[in-house]
Amino acid sequence: MRAGLTGPMPAEADTVRLAGRDVPVRWRRSSRARRLSLRIDAREAEIVITLPPRAEREAGLALLRSHAVWALSRLDHLPAAAPWHDGGQVVLDGCPHGIVHCPDGRRGVWIEDDVVKVSGEAPFLRRRLTTFLRQEAGRRLGARLAQIAGASGLRPRRLVIKDTSSRWGSCSADGTVMLNWRLVMAPVDVQHYVLAHELAHLRHMNHGPDFWVLVASLTPHRHMAEAWLRRHGPALLRAA
Ligand SMILES: [Zn+2]
Repeated sequence: MRAGLTGPMPAEADTVRLAGRDVPVRWRRSSRARRLSLRIDAREAEIVITLPPRAEREAGLALLRSHAVWALSRLDHLPAAAPWHDGGQVVLDGCPHGIVHCPDGRRGVWIEDDVVKVSGEAPFLRRRLTTFLRQEAGRRLGARLAQIAGASGLRPRRLVIKDTSSRWGSCSADGTVMLNWRLVMAPVDVQHYVLAHELAHLRHMNHGPDFWVLVASLTPHRHMAEAWLRRHGPALLRAA
């Protein structure tokens, strides 16, 4: 029997609703696969469904649904993404930066070209990097929030940078905008959407049609950013 004429098709990223949650799925069409299969890609924190040449996606979805509990629990218990370490990488505004430990440095943590340099003793590298990223989040997200606020006339009373396990941002009735510091790792366009979303809550404390009209007037990135956060958000929440 001849192998498929076209060989394996490129993998395709998707999001599937499973037990009330959106989970990242990657579809692989393989000319060599003999049967449908399901696995977890721990590095990408996604489910990979491999389809043999003539299998329908529906069959893949049925297989996934019948293993929903297993798949969700595997996704929930993935180890943290490669922990920050000397020689590793940290992402800022969507751009990967190398991490270099400089034990004798006297400047705390600083950026030189595309490298984040961390002084101090090795066991404290991750903690110092976290503190630095929280500060960067306040600085960078604060400046971008002020920019959208200035252009729109929506004025937050204050900005609070937080460490939350699930939310990217929120807005309270007293005009406080809360942002997750981990958002500073996301691409700038994704940040732009989250900032616009929270600012729009200053006028509409709901997700009604008027709210979304206002969001659309503040940022063109909503759908891209929502898809990006669904797909990459879990990994961002585990980075440290
Ligand atoms: Zn909202």
